[in-house]
Amino acid sequence: MPKKSDIQDLVQQFVDSLSSLIEQDTVSRARAAVLNAFGGHASAGALRGAGPAKAAVVGRLGRKRRKGPIQLCPVPGCSNRAAPVFGMVCSKHKDLPKAEIKKFREARRAQKQKVKKAA
Ligand SMILES: [Zn+2]
Repeated sequence: MPKKSDIQDLVQQFVDSLSSLIEQDTVSRARAAVLNAFGGHASAGALRGAGPAKAAVVGRLGRKRRKGPIQLCPVPGCSNRAAPVFGMVCSKHKDLPKAEIKKFREARRAQKQKVKKAA
């Protein structure tokens, strides 16, 4: 009849080896999943044919479906966001005449060109 501490040792050994096995399995499984998710990262074409799970991962990471960069209101000194519903000016300047807005926009474009040339 083994002593109680011997049984405890055996159980502990069993638990240790079991948990290390589980750990190994989990780690290799996690690694496989990560490699799966990121393996095709370099080639977008590989991801396009991927299943819905992969697509979800890509959607979360890449945000491929976001709209373009934020447009700002072209009115000088105004740093509000422009919205397409207002004709690409901000809500504050949506009542300005289109000709004015056009002028502002052209001025802004010219400014950008200057900056580009200077750089
Ligand atoms: Zn504005």
